[in-house]
Amino acid sequence: MDSPVDSIPKISKKILPALKRLGIKTIRDLLFHFPQRYDDFSNEKQIAEVTAGEVVTIKGVIDKIHNIRTFRKRMVITEATISDESGSIKALWFNQSFLIKNLRQGLAFNFSGKISLGKRGIYLQNPAYEKIQSPNGEIQNSQGIHTGGLVAVYPETRGITSKWLRFLVNNLIGLSRTLVDPLPKETRDRHKLPETKDALLKIHFPKNREEARDSEHRFQFEELLLNQLLVLQNRVNLGTCRAPEIPADVNFLKKFVQSLPFPLTDAQRRSLWEIAKDMEKGRPMNRLLEGDVGSGKTVVAAAAAYLAVKAGFGVAFMAPTEILARQHYETLNKILDPLGVATGLMVGSEKNASAYDSVVVGTHALIQKDIYFEKLGLVVVDEQHRFGVEQRAALLKNQESGRKNKNEALVPHFLSMSATPIPRTLALTIYGDLDLSIIDEMPKSRKHIITKVVESSRRHEIYLFIREEVKHGRQVFVICPRIDLPENDDFKISQQKMLQADLKAVKEEYKKLSENIFPDLRIAMLHGKMKAKEKDETMKKFKKHQFDILVSTSVVEVGVDVSNATIMVIEGAERFGLAQLHQFRGRVGRGSEQSYCFLFPTEDGIISRRLKALEEAKSGFELAEKDLEIRGPGDFLGTRQSGIPGALAQALANPVLVRDVRKEAAEILSKDPWLVRAPVLKQKVADMKKVLHPE
Ligand code: ADP
Ligand code: MG
Repeated sequence: MDSPVDSIPKISKKILPALKRLGIKTIRDLLFHFPQRYDDFSNEKQIAEVTAGEVVTIKGVIDKIHNIRTFRKRMVITEATISDESGSIKALWFNQSFLIKNLRQGLAFNFSGKISLGKRGIYLQNPAYEKIQSPNGEIQNSQGIHTGGLVAVYPETRGITSKWLRFLVNNLIGLSRTLVDPLPKETRDRHKLPETKDALLKIHFPKNREEARDSEHRFQFEELLLNQLLVLQNRVNLGTCRAPEIPADVNFLKKFVQSLPFPLTDAQRRSLWEIAKDMEKGRPMNRLLEGDVGSGKTVVAAAAAYLAVKAGFGVAFMAPTEILARQHYETLNKILDPLGVATGLMVGSEKNASAYDSVVVGTHALIQKDIYFEKLGLVVVDEQHRFGVEQRAALLKNQESGRKNKNEALVPHFLSMSATPIPRTLALTIYGDLDLSIIDEMPKSRKHIITKVVESSRRHEIYLFIREEVKHGRQVFVICPRIDLPENDDFKISQQKMLQADLKAVKEEYKKLSENIFPDLRIAMLHGKMKAKEKDETMKKFKKHQFDILVSTSVVEVGVDVSNATIMVIEGAERFGLAQLHQFRGRVGRGSEQSYCFLFPTEDGIISRRLKALEEAKSGFELAEKDLEIRGPGDFLGTRQSGIPGALAQALANPVLVRDVRKEAAEILSKDPWLVRAPVLKQKVADMKKVLHPE
């Protein structure tokens, strides 16, 4: 099973790159390359019975076959006459002149395909065919693999057809007889799951829908179970670690809340209380604070930090970019300084943190050198989804080193904040080892942002409107379209190219706006090729209103609070995910003025359901549900980006399955917490860990 595919006879080296594109390197990969759907050829008919429009399978003998060249359309049509006891019918294939070598006169075949109606009556259009006559002339009545019944259609790529894959899988499927099923027998019995090897055979060659469904269900179950076992084991692991006991001191909380210039929303209070109660326990908190952009997560985290400091511990506060780190630093300073808590900043270019600071804000560089903290009590990570997998792994490593000498070392509490509104069910499943606090309510003062998808014919109206707003002292963000470059194996090179392409887009947009549209306004650029200092400088100036319009790439973090900015323009809007568009939109509407978000699609006519959804949906959660509904969990989570395997993403769409699997995972671990009695399962969980948290 683990042999490379080039060890298969008849596989030419030339096909290997194409197979690799499909993720197929070993025979195992090939057998686990599952169909994406099935052609239903189960409708077997006598020729005399068929009618136009239906998809049928016919068993017949070739009476006649020849190629016809059509000069006008430069096509070759292969025409065959097929007959059975009931009658005869024509079959036509287009541009497959080689067929006459295979489909020889006098031989019997299965034909599966659609009956079409042409000028000269009905015919079989481009049918799949398969020989059913054995060498001794006997007609075999076996179900073929390309015709009759359900026929697997696989994710394909250039140079590889489903027919070829079926042929290969059919030849190799026998190897799966030796596969050891990772699922314990009790689990399979409890949930009526077929064994791996049976499921594998039936997912490729099902006799009926039910077999296909049961097999698919089995593999989704398995994938989800691995995820849940991993998550639950993490939880148990953390549960054995000690963490600082940080009292949920009501007096401190009161003092904190009273020092704010605004009242907390109920959702903020609830989340804060959940966090405070969690940090009290002496077990490491592992919590995700989810809340829409602008819902006020920072202040909640600041309160948690305050409690930690008051209990005598240090706090590390990490942001994905320097700009955001600086902003957090300013915000936290404003909040915590009056309360007598010192905050420091530590970013790549400068280190203003000192040993006296109780709270240190920085980028992930902070993770690598936790020099400032003898007693680290709390780690806050903003926009966790923006943190690379490696950084997360680094955090886990910290936890793990804490675990080794668990008698002395205290594992810090961990609070991660995210504005990506992952629907609750999804979040609980994927991040099942995290507890969840949700801020699902905006501060009362926040206004609804008017959102419009704009067709090109109305672009000038919007420009007039923008000019009016600027005249009234407002500021504008313009986000340039994301540039799609061909995928590259070498991530670094493609990143460089991406920055380059982004730069070009920004420069063009800047030129257009500053020369043709708003020559009289003050416009600045922000892009990934700029040094951190330059970016910072530009942002500062924008904040001080030294520019009216800021043209920026999407890769540059514009997560900075500019309360005077009331207009967000997004070019090439359809190229962004809903969640990201929503993030951009959240950059305006921070002050007291009415704010606007204008979405310009690249071409008219692609004003999709997704963009329309953005016009209507007010909260990120509402939007996430919609996005999930439109795109399905696979695309929503973005397999490539999130590292979440396809089958797992599929399984997540099924709440009943999720519930069953969670229960099963708990059941398994309650009897065998380290899976010593299920070594294959244990190994698979370890493999999944590598996929989700590669080092
Ligand atoms: P996010 O959740 O996107 O990180 P922030 O924490 O940056 O949001 O908060 C956005 C803005 O809202 C900040 O200027 C903050 O001071 C303000 N804010 C936070 N909570 C409240 C509240 N309860 N009432 C009014 N304004 C608030
Ligand atoms: Mg924030």
